[in-house]
Amino acid sequence: MTKTNLTEWPPRYDRSFIPPDDSPYWNRELETMDPVRREEEVILPKLQAQLHYAYRHSHFYRKKWDKAGVRPEDIRSLADFEEIPFVTKEEIRQDQMENPPFGSNRCVPATEVGRVHGTSGTTGKPTAFAISKGDVARIAEAHARVMWNFGLRPADTVFIGSFFSLYLGSWGALLGTERLGATAFPFGAGVPGQSDRALEWMKEVKPTAFYGTPSYSLYLAEKALARGFDPLKDFNFKILFFSGEPGAGVPSTKKRIEAAYGGICIDSGSTAEMTPWMTNCECSHRQGMHMYQDIVYGELVDVDTKKRLPCGKEGATVYTHLERTSQPMIRFWAGDISVWVDDPCPCGRTYPRLPNGVYGRADDMFVVRGENVYPSAIEDSIRGIKGFGDEFRIIITRERTMDELVVQAEYASDVDPADVPNLKAELEKALKARGLRTVVQMEPPNTIERTQFKARRIIDKRDLYDHIIREK
Ligand SMILES: [Zn+2]
Repeated sequence: MTKTNLTEWPPRYDRSFIPPDDSPYWNRELETMDPVRREEEVILPKLQAQLHYAYRHSHFYRKKWDKAGVRPEDIRSLADFEEIPFVTKEEIRQDQMENPPFGSNRCVPATEVGRVHGTSGTTGKPTAFAISKGDVARIAEAHARVMWNFGLRPADTVFIGSFFSLYLGSWGALLGTERLGATAFPFGAGVPGQSDRALEWMKEVKPTAFYGTPSYSLYLAEKALARGFDPLKDFNFKILFFSGEPGAGVPSTKKRIEAAYGGICIDSGSTAEMTPWMTNCECSHRQGMHMYQDIVYGELVDVDTKKRLPCGKEGATVYTHLERTSQPMIRFWAGDISVWVDDPCPCGRTYPRLPNGVYGRADDMFVVRGENVYPSAIEDSIRGIKGFGDEFRIIITRERTMDELVVQAEYASDVDPADVPNLKAELEKALKARGLRTVVQMEPPNTIERTQFKARRIIDKRDLYDHIIREK
């Protein structure tokens, strides 16, 4: 058993502990515990310790909670915890602008900072993270636990095919691989010519696991075939695990990745402010992501009333670190849309699950003619029809006051051009069945721009149009 003293905060883990290879769990006791007992004996004490710690060490939370009139000692149950106000991405960004570079939530002296990371800032000013040395060790432990549960063992070699600069996912995967005792191949991504070299190395070294983004893995598979590689024979991936995009939880994308590589496709995810802790991860049974509630406490809340929802309901995700000493996020409003359930998973873990993954991020979701549209629903329709390629693009325009939704999708290179109109009709029908009125445009193979990172698939032209109107 792992020697973790649950009464100690922050927890210190035995770094030499590794379960026997045939153990399906990293920590059987915590993972299979009765959920109510886990809440009372593990989650609540850790949460209270985290709250007291944050109030003592973080100017950010002291100010925020004083203003809200709530103190850590008021939180005597998980029900009470709903009194703690949410933290938003924008609030963190604003605080860091006022208190550069790390904001007023660093909590530890500079000498205790082990690593600096940050967001890429594609949607605004980057957010900076100063991760404490102790937190780095706990991140490694949390990653090793979830990666063990994907089926990874010390004999595996993990090919990390994602950016290694600011992108936190790569670093979490690396820390977890090392803590688990497996072999890391931190290959990276994003350098010109690197995808070609990745294929050569994947054939030569034959790593057994792949980490990256779903769109990049599909891109690599496509490139492999074009270069005469057979990913099923030339590579040896048994486990492909992903974060950074919701695609690996989209059933038809999952199928496509598994068919391309012959390994299992595992969805995992988080949001920048919570990473590199993994909050949600599938197990090898792939029945939706488990929420490892004793590491990061997740809630699903009603988007309008902001009240916590029971299992079975759809809502927005809110997360709380339970063992972070620098920049802890407490009731962080991630705004991912999901459904959570508590019915049993064949693996025996008793954590709640997100059976459909995260099918819309609040910042991905767009509204067309008053309807909420999730790009992953469009992706699922396209990838569920044989004859489409892997790339597509969504363009939203506004004609006078009417929004138009245009879906541009590539047909596969083996499709007879005579069949293209039928494919188009089939996709239009599939989208209509989901309540989406769209204009489908068929594009020849390899004409839509490829991406090595977050697929930039949504082009919303309406803002630009509004801008023009205002200028007139
Ligand atoms: Zn499971």
